[in-house]
Amino acid sequence: MRTTYPGYAGFMSDEVTALRAAAYQVPTDQPESDGTLEWSSTVLVVVEADAGGRAGLGYTYAHQSVVPLVTSMLADVVTGRDADDVRRTWHAMVRAIRNLGTTGLAAMAVSAVDNALWDLKARLHEMSLVDLLGPAHESVPAYGSGGFTSYDDNALAAQLGGWVEQGIPRVKLKIGRRPGDDRHRLEVARKAVGDGTALYADANGAYGVSQAVEWSHVLRGEFGVEWFEEPVSSDDLAGLRAVRERRPGGLDVTAGEYLPNPWSARAMLDAHAVDCLQLDVTRCLGITGFLDAAAVAAAYQIDVSAHCAPQQSMHACAAVTMLRHLEWFHDHTRIESMLFDGAVEPSDGGLLRPRRDAAGNGLSLRRSDAERFRVA
Ligand SMILES: [Mg+2]
Repeated sequence: MRTTYPGYAGFMSDEVTALRAAAYQVPTDQPESDGTLEWSSTVLVVVEADAGGRAGLGYTYAHQSVVPLVTSMLADVVTGRDADDVRRTWHAMVRAIRNLGTTGLAAMAVSAVDNALWDLKARLHEMSLVDLLGPAHESVPAYGSGGFTSYDDNALAAQLGGWVEQGIPRVKLKIGRRPGDDRHRLEVARKAVGDGTALYADANGAYGVSQAVEWSHVLRGEFGVEWFEEPVSSDDLAGLRAVRERRPGGLDVTAGEYLPNPWSARAMLDAHAVDCLQLDVTRCLGITGFLDAAAVAAAYQIDVSAHCAPQQSMHACAAVTMLRHLEWFHDHTRIESMLFDGAVEPSDGGLLRPRRDAAGNGLSLRRSDAERFRVA
């Protein structure tokens, strides 16, 4: 219902009337693994929020168990609230999940709803999401990410080389599942992308500190790697710091993709654990939590790099002053182009330009294509 407040000519607001959620489990195009996990499918949870005859769309990559959390608990918190009051509603949701823990699946559920509410507000005001958030950048640099440990040499070279051919000057591969194979895999990767491409490596927490320090010298010294992600578990803040203190110059130690809220970002930064903080708009309590965590990083003079979900994330990224780049992750770019109309591709040397000619995030779910993957 749209309300006009007496005394505030032209000020109108809409109540959120409903929250809807659905989960889609999409098989990978081939088996995928990294240093510590193997998977054959990815679950996309889409939330839609209704107000004023419009629907906002947000999502997270999680598990289908997020769906009932959204449609029961969070729907009760959100419906009836002013669609313009996204931050107030976010605060109410965070209070509501206190006993569940403001982490993990509950944080992913809040993330998807918060993302949908920002999109809804932008659509109600007929603005692009990036313009509503306040752009600090016209475009967002992307880096190609995949290079799974399950790939053979040909698949690894084709994927990484393909991004370089597309004009993306930064690419990342996974390492750490079979450390004995990694020198060879890094040789294949470096040969495929050439010397002019920034090469990144992600161990997903596969190493202990001593092993990670040894690998940091191999990565930098033998292969010119610039970015060593999760050399040890990102739960081990002291371990990350220990690697950071003993790595060679020119190699950044990074982590943060699992951070579930801005206050856990503070703990990681307090520990001086990273050179660049990774944040995920689908895990860190949505766009609101992502921007708050980015502000914490700015206070430490640390850059932010966004983890995954690129089509939704690029709008929030463009609003982060100290932004480094956004992860153009194979799984997610594939799913988002399969299931959403309005997805954009990197251009002009790997730059993503959030659409400003469409309201909100510019995305709409292709329901007919998505339905066969629906699991909740
Ligand atoms: Mg990672």
